[in-house]
Amino acid sequence: MADAGVVLSRPGCIALEEIRVEPPGPGEVLVRIEATGVCHSDLHVIEENGWGHPFPVLLGHEGAGTVEAIGDGVDGLAAGDRVVLGWKAACGTCSKCREGQPRQCRKPPAAPGRLFRGEDELTPVLRTGTFATRTVVPAVAAAKVPRELPVEQACLIGCAVATGVMSVLETAKVWAGARVAVIGCGAVGLSAIQGARIAGASEIRAIDVDPRKAEQARRYGATHTEPGPVDFVFDVVGRRATFEEALRMIATNGTVVLIGLSPSGEKAEVDLPALFGRRARILVSHGGDHLPGDFPRLAQWAIDGQLDLAAMVTRTAPLADWSAAFDAMRAGDVIRTVLLP
Ligand SMILES: [Zn+2]
Ligand SMILES: [Zn+2]
Repeated sequence: MADAGVVLSRPGCIALEEIRVEPPGPGEVLVRIEATGVCHSDLHVIEENGWGHPFPVLLGHEGAGTVEAIGDGVDGLAAGDRVVLGWKAACGTCSKCREGQPRQCRKPPAAPGRLFRGEDELTPVLRTGTFATRTVVPAVAAAKVPRELPVEQACLIGCAVATGVMSVLETAKVWAGARVAVIGCGAVGLSAIQGARIAGASEIRAIDVDPRKAEQARRYGATHTEPGPVDFVFDVVGRRATFEEALRMIATNGTVVLIGLSPSGEKAEVDLPALFGRRARILVSHGGDHLPGDFPRLAQWAIDGQLDLAAMVTRTAPLADWSAAFDAMRAGDVIRTVLLP
Protein backbone atom coordinates (compact mmCIF):
# COMPACT_ATOMS: atom_id res chain seq x y z
CA MET A 1 0.00 0.00 0.00
CA ALA A 2 1.26 3.46 -0.85
CA ASP A 3 2.25 5.82 1.92
CA ALA A 4 0.32 8.99 2.57
CA GLY A 5 0.88 12.17 4.54
CA VAL A 6 -0.65 15.58 5.21
CA VAL A 7 1.44 18.02 3.18
CA LEU A 8 1.59 21.82 3.39
CA SER A 9 2.69 22.60 -0.18
CA ARG A 10 2.78 26.37 0.17
CA PRO A 11 1.12 28.89 2.51
CA GLY A 12 -2.55 28.00 2.87
CA CYS A 13 -2.43 24.84 0.71
CA ILE A 14 -2.75 21.56 2.65
CA ALA A 15 -3.82 18.12 1.43
CA LEU A 16 -3.55 14.45 2.26
CA GLU A 17 -1.27 13.17 -0.48
CA GLU A 18 0.64 10.10 -1.55
CA ILE A 19 4.23 10.26 -0.32
CA ARG A 20 7.31 8.11 -0.83
CA VAL A 21 9.31 6.83 2.13
CA GLU A 22 12.84 5.58 1.46
CA PRO A 23 14.53 2.92 3.61
CA PRO A 24 16.46 4.12 6.68
CA GLY A 25 20.17 4.87 6.28
CA PRO A 26 22.86 4.32 8.93
CA GLY A 27 21.73 5.46 12.36
CA GLU A 28 18.11 5.93 11.23
CA VAL A 29 14.82 4.13 11.90
CA LEU A 30 11.71 3.70 9.79
CA VAL A 31 8.56 3.93 11.92
CA ARG A 32 4.99 3.04 11.04
CA ILE A 33 2.94 5.81 12.68
CA GLU A 34 -0.05 4.44 14.58
CA ALA A 35 -1.17 7.58 16.39
CA THR A 36 -0.33 11.27 16.19
CA GLY A 37 -1.64 14.13 18.29
CA VAL A 38 -2.72 17.39 16.69
CA CYS A 39 -0.66 20.04 18.48
CA HIS A 40 -0.80 23.84 18.36
CA SER A 41 2.71 23.93 16.91
CA ASP A 42 1.38 22.35 13.70
CA LEU A 43 -1.19 25.14 13.51
CA HIS A 44 1.69 27.57 14.15
CA VAL A 45 3.54 26.07 11.14
CA ILE A 46 0.44 26.59 9.01
CA GLU A 47 -0.28 30.11 10.21
CA GLU A 48 3.34 31.31 10.20
CA ASN A 49 3.97 30.31 6.56
CA GLY A 50 5.90 27.16 7.35
CA TRP A 51 7.63 28.59 10.46
CA GLY A 52 10.99 28.31 8.75
CA HIS A 53 10.42 24.83 7.29
CA PRO A 54 11.20 24.76 3.53
CA PHE A 55 8.16 23.74 1.42
CA PRO A 56 6.71 21.22 0.88
CA VAL A 57 6.25 20.45 4.57
CA LEU A 58 5.05 17.15 6.04
CA LEU A 59 2.96 18.12 9.09
CA GLY A 60 2.84 16.47 12.51
CA HIS A 61 5.38 16.04 15.29
CA GLU A 62 3.63 14.19 18.15
CA GLY A 63 3.70 10.57 17.02
CA ALA A 64 3.98 7.02 18.24
CA GLY A 65 4.17 3.80 16.29
CA THR A 66 6.12 0.65 15.58
CA VAL A 67 9.66 0.35 14.26
CA GLU A 68 9.52 -1.34 10.87
CA ALA A 69 13.20 -1.24 9.91
CA ILE A 70 16.48 0.00 11.32
CA GLY A 71 19.58 1.25 9.51
CA ASP A 72 23.14 0.09 10.11
CA GLY A 73 24.64 0.82 13.48
CA VAL A 74 21.37 1.33 15.36
CA ASP A 75 21.63 -0.02 18.91
CA GLY A 76 18.81 -0.58 21.34
CA LEU A 77 15.94 -0.56 18.84
CA ALA A 78 14.57 -3.39 16.72
CA ALA A 79 11.74 -3.97 14.26
CA GLY A 80 8.52 -4.44 16.20
CA ASP A 81 9.38 -2.05 19.05
CA ARG A 82 6.74 0.48 20.10
CA VAL A 83 8.35 3.92 20.03
CA VAL A 84 7.43 7.52 20.73
CA LEU A 85 9.12 10.03 18.43
CA GLY A 86 10.89 13.03 19.92
CA TRP A 87 11.52 16.35 18.18
CA LYS A 88 14.22 17.44 20.60
CA ALA A 89 16.98 14.83 20.51
CA ALA A 90 20.55 15.85 21.32
CA CYS A 91 23.29 15.90 18.66
CA GLY A 92 26.10 14.86 20.98
CA THR A 93 28.63 17.17 19.32
CA CYS A 94 27.60 20.83 19.83
CA SER A 95 29.13 22.96 22.59
CA LYS A 96 26.22 22.32 25.00
CA CYS A 97 26.32 18.56 24.41
CA ARG A 98 30.09 18.59 24.94
CA GLU A 99 29.61 20.51 28.19
CA GLY A 100 27.39 17.67 29.37
CA GLN A 101 24.15 19.63 28.91
CA PRO A 102 22.36 17.71 26.15
CA ARG A 103 19.00 19.18 27.23
CA GLN A 104 20.26 22.53 25.94
CA CYS A 105 21.52 21.02 22.66
CA ARG A 106 21.84 23.77 20.06
CA LYS A 107 21.36 21.58 17.02
CA PRO A 108 19.09 18.52 17.26
CA PRO A 109 19.99 15.96 14.56
CA ALA A 110 18.43 16.86 11.21
CA ALA A 111 15.71 14.81 9.55
CA PRO A 112 17.33 12.11 7.40
CA GLY A 113 15.77 13.31 4.12
CA ARG A 114 14.00 10.05 3.25
CA LEU A 115 10.53 11.53 2.63
CA PHE A 116 9.38 12.65 -0.81
CA ARG A 117 6.31 13.79 -2.69
CA GLY A 118 7.03 12.95 -6.28
CA GLU A 119 10.55 14.29 -6.81
CA ASP A 120 10.27 16.92 -4.06
CA GLU A 121 11.92 16.22 -0.74
CA LEU A 122 9.52 16.85 2.13
CA THR A 123 10.55 18.80 5.23
CA PRO A 124 9.01 17.03 8.22
CA VAL A 125 7.77 19.42 10.92
CA LEU A 126 10.29 19.54 13.78
CA ARG A 127 12.31 16.78 12.10
CA THR A 128 9.60 14.15 12.71
CA GLY A 129 6.67 14.44 10.26
CA THR A 130 4.04 12.26 11.92
CA PHE A 131 0.86 13.08 9.96
CA ALA A 132 1.88 10.18 7.76
CA THR A 133 1.58 6.42 7.50
CA ARG A 134 5.36 6.07 7.92
CA THR A 135 8.33 8.33 8.61
CA VAL A 136 12.11 8.07 9.03
CA VAL A 137 13.92 9.69 11.96
CA PRO A 138 17.39 9.54 13.50
CA ALA A 139 17.44 6.60 15.93
CA VAL A 140 18.22 8.98 18.81
CA ALA A 141 14.82 10.62 18.19
CA ALA A 142 12.87 7.41 18.85
CA ALA A 143 12.40 6.10 22.39
CA LYS A 144 11.07 2.63 23.16
CA VAL A 145 8.04 2.56 25.47
CA PRO A 146 5.95 -0.34 26.81
CA ARG A 147 3.16 -1.56 24.56
CA GLU A 148 0.95 -1.68 27.64
CA LEU A 149 0.26 2.04 27.17
CA PRO A 150 -2.39 2.50 24.43
CA VAL A 151 -0.79 4.09 21.38
CA GLU A 152 -3.23 7.01 21.23
CA GLN A 153 -2.06 7.98 24.72
CA ALA A 154 1.60 7.19 24.07
CA CYS A 155 1.85 9.69 21.22
CA LEU A 156 0.98 12.60 23.55
CA ILE A 157 4.22 11.94 25.42
CA GLY A 158 6.19 13.08 22.36
CA CYS A 159 5.17 16.72 22.70
CA ALA A 160 2.35 17.84 25.01
CA VAL A 161 3.20 15.65 27.97
CA ALA A 162 6.98 16.00 27.69
CA THR A 163 6.65 19.77 27.31
CA GLY A 164 4.17 20.27 30.16
CA VAL A 165 5.60 17.85 32.69
CA MET A 166 9.27 18.60 32.00
CA SER A 167 8.72 22.38 32.06
CA VAL A 168 7.73 21.88 35.69
CA LEU A 169 10.27 19.24 36.71
CA GLU A 170 13.26 20.20 34.56
CA THR A 171 13.06 23.81 33.33
CA ALA A 172 11.54 25.34 36.48
CA LYS A 173 12.47 22.61 39.00
CA VAL A 174 9.32 23.21 41.03
CA TRP A 175 9.83 22.10 44.63
CA ALA A 176 7.47 20.24 46.94
CA GLY A 177 5.13 22.72 48.63
CA ALA A 178 5.47 25.41 45.93
CA ARG A 179 2.46 27.41 44.75
CA VAL A 180 1.95 27.02 41.00
CA ALA A 181 -0.30 28.55 38.36
CA VAL A 182 -0.79 27.38 34.79
CA ILE A 183 -2.32 29.72 32.21
CA GLY A 184 -3.92 27.82 29.34
CA CYS A 185 -5.54 24.46 30.07
CA GLY A 186 -5.10 22.53 26.82
CA ALA A 187 -3.00 19.37 26.56
CA VAL A 188 0.30 21.08 27.48
CA GLY A 189 -1.31 23.03 30.35
CA LEU A 190 -2.98 19.93 31.79
CA SER A 191 0.36 18.14 31.55
CA ALA A 192 2.03 21.00 33.43
CA ILE A 193 -0.70 20.75 36.08
CA GLN A 194 -0.03 17.03 36.40
CA GLY A 195 3.71 17.74 36.59
CA ALA A 196 3.05 20.20 39.41
CA ARG A 197 1.01 17.55 41.23
CA ILE A 198 3.85 15.01 40.79
CA ALA A 199 6.33 17.65 42.08
CA GLY A 200 4.21 18.00 45.24
CA ALA A 201 2.97 21.57 44.67
CA SER A 202 0.79 22.74 47.56
CA GLU A 203 -1.48 24.87 45.40
CA ILE A 204 -2.17 24.61 41.66
CA ARG A 205 -4.14 27.40 39.98
CA ALA A 206 -5.63 26.55 36.57
CA ILE A 207 -6.34 29.69 34.55
CA ASP A 208 -8.15 29.69 31.23
CA VAL A 209 -10.37 32.14 29.34
CA ASP A 210 -12.85 29.26 29.10
CA PRO A 211 -14.10 28.56 32.67
CA ARG A 212 -15.13 25.01 31.66
CA LYS A 213 -11.51 24.23 30.81
CA ALA A 214 -10.22 25.61 34.11
CA GLU A 215 -12.88 23.61 35.97
CA GLN A 216 -12.02 20.39 34.15
CA ALA A 217 -8.36 20.90 35.17
CA ARG A 218 -9.36 19.95 38.73
CA ARG A 219 -9.39 16.28 37.74
CA TYR A 220 -5.68 16.59 36.85
CA GLY A 221 -4.73 18.19 40.15
CA ALA A 222 -5.76 21.87 39.99
CA THR A 223 -6.87 23.20 43.37
CA HIS A 224 -8.06 26.70 42.30
CA THR A 225 -9.41 28.24 39.11
CA GLU A 226 -8.74 31.93 39.79
CA PRO A 227 -5.49 33.97 39.83
CA GLY A 228 -3.55 34.41 43.07
CA PRO A 229 0.05 34.91 44.24
CA VAL A 230 2.27 31.95 43.33
CA ASP A 231 5.91 30.90 43.18
CA PHE A 232 5.74 29.65 39.59
CA VAL A 233 3.52 30.69 36.69
CA PHE A 234 3.58 28.71 33.45
CA ASP A 235 2.33 30.70 30.46
CA VAL A 236 1.32 27.99 28.04
CA VAL A 237 -0.39 30.47 25.70
CA GLY A 238 2.29 33.06 24.94
CA ARG A 239 0.12 36.09 24.27
CA ARG A 240 0.47 39.61 25.64
CA ALA A 241 -2.54 39.19 27.92
CA THR A 242 -1.40 35.86 29.36
CA PHE A 243 2.23 36.89 29.86
CA GLU A 244 1.24 40.14 31.59
CA GLU A 245 -1.18 38.16 33.74
CA ALA A 246 1.66 35.80 34.62
CA LEU A 247 3.90 38.73 35.64
CA ARG A 248 1.14 40.08 37.89
CA MET A 249 0.69 36.75 39.66
CA ILE A 250 4.25 35.99 40.74
CA ALA A 251 5.11 36.39 44.40
CA THR A 252 8.52 37.57 45.64
CA ASN A 253 11.28 35.37 44.22
CA GLY A 254 8.71 33.95 41.83
CA THR A 255 9.40 32.54 38.38
CA VAL A 256 7.50 33.03 35.13
CA VAL A 257 8.03 30.26 32.59
CA LEU A 258 7.08 31.03 28.99
CA ILE A 259 6.09 27.84 27.15
CA GLY A 260 3.55 28.87 24.50
CA LEU A 261 4.64 29.87 21.00
CA SER A 262 3.77 33.51 20.33
CA PRO A 263 2.66 34.74 16.91
CA SER A 264 5.35 36.82 15.21
CA GLY A 265 5.35 40.43 16.39
CA GLU A 266 3.69 39.65 19.73
CA LYS A 267 4.92 41.97 22.51
CA ALA A 268 4.20 42.36 26.20
CA GLU A 269 4.78 45.19 28.65
CA VAL A 270 6.96 44.58 31.71
CA ASP A 271 6.72 46.73 34.83
CA LEU A 272 10.46 46.78 35.54
CA PRO A 273 10.32 48.22 39.08
CA ALA A 274 7.77 45.56 40.04
CA LEU A 275 9.93 42.85 38.46
CA PHE A 276 12.97 44.15 40.32
CA GLY A 277 11.12 44.54 43.59
CA ARG A 278 9.96 40.94 43.47
CA ARG A 279 13.34 39.59 42.34
CA ALA A 280 11.41 37.71 39.70
CA ARG A 281 12.90 35.31 37.18
CA ILE A 282 11.69 34.81 33.63
CA LEU A 283 12.51 31.48 31.99
CA VAL A 284 11.81 30.25 28.49
CA SER A 285 10.94 26.59 28.09
CA HIS A 286 11.66 24.91 24.77
CA GLY A 287 9.55 21.83 25.20
CA GLY A 288 10.47 21.60 28.88
CA ASP A 289 14.11 20.89 27.91
CA HIS A 290 13.05 17.29 27.46
CA LEU A 291 14.96 14.55 25.67
CA PRO A 292 13.54 11.35 24.16
CA GLY A 293 15.27 9.55 27.03
CA ASP A 294 12.56 10.97 29.32
CA PHE A 295 9.77 9.17 27.44
CA PRO A 296 10.06 5.72 29.09
CA ARG A 297 9.71 7.30 32.54
CA LEU A 298 6.72 9.40 31.45
CA ALA A 299 5.13 6.30 29.88
CA GLN A 300 5.66 4.37 33.10
CA TRP A 301 3.99 7.14 35.11
CA ALA A 302 1.02 6.91 32.75
CA ILE A 303 0.86 3.13 33.16
CA ASP A 304 1.10 3.49 36.95
CA GLY A 305 -1.73 6.03 36.97
CA GLN A 306 0.39 9.00 38.10
CA LEU A 307 -0.24 10.69 34.77
CA ASP A 308 -3.79 10.64 33.45
CA LEU A 309 -3.50 10.64 29.66
CA ALA A 310 -6.68 8.75 28.79
CA ALA A 311 -8.98 11.70 29.41
CA MET A 312 -6.71 14.05 27.47
CA VAL A 313 -7.51 12.18 24.26
CA THR A 314 -10.83 13.83 23.57
CA ARG A 315 -11.30 12.35 20.12
CA THR A 316 -9.63 9.92 17.73
CA ALA A 317 -10.06 10.14 13.96
CA PRO A 318 -8.52 8.81 10.75
CA LEU A 319 -5.67 10.79 9.15
CA ALA A 320 -8.08 12.00 6.47
CA ASP A 321 -9.88 14.05 9.16
CA TRP A 322 -6.86 16.32 9.75
CA SER A 323 -8.84 19.40 8.69
CA ALA A 324 -11.68 18.86 11.17
CA ALA A 325 -9.07 18.27 13.86
CA PHE A 326 -7.54 21.71 13.26
CA ASP A 327 -11.02 23.27 13.26
CA ALA A 328 -11.79 21.65 16.62
CA MET A 329 -8.50 22.92 18.04
CA ARG A 330 -9.14 26.48 16.81
CA ALA A 331 -12.60 26.36 18.36
CA GLY A 332 -11.17 25.08 21.66
CA ASP A 333 -13.56 22.11 21.58
CA VAL A 334 -10.99 19.45 22.39
CA ILE A 335 -8.05 18.82 24.67
CA ARG A 336 -6.43 16.66 21.99
CA THR A 337 -7.54 15.05 18.78
CA VAL A 338 -5.40 12.03 17.98
CA LEU A 339 -5.21 10.95 14.35
CA LEU A 340 -4.76 7.24 13.61
CA PRO A 341 -2.95 6.88 10.25
ZN1 LIG B 1 3.71 20.01 19.83
ZN1 LIG C 1 24.01 19.10 20.76
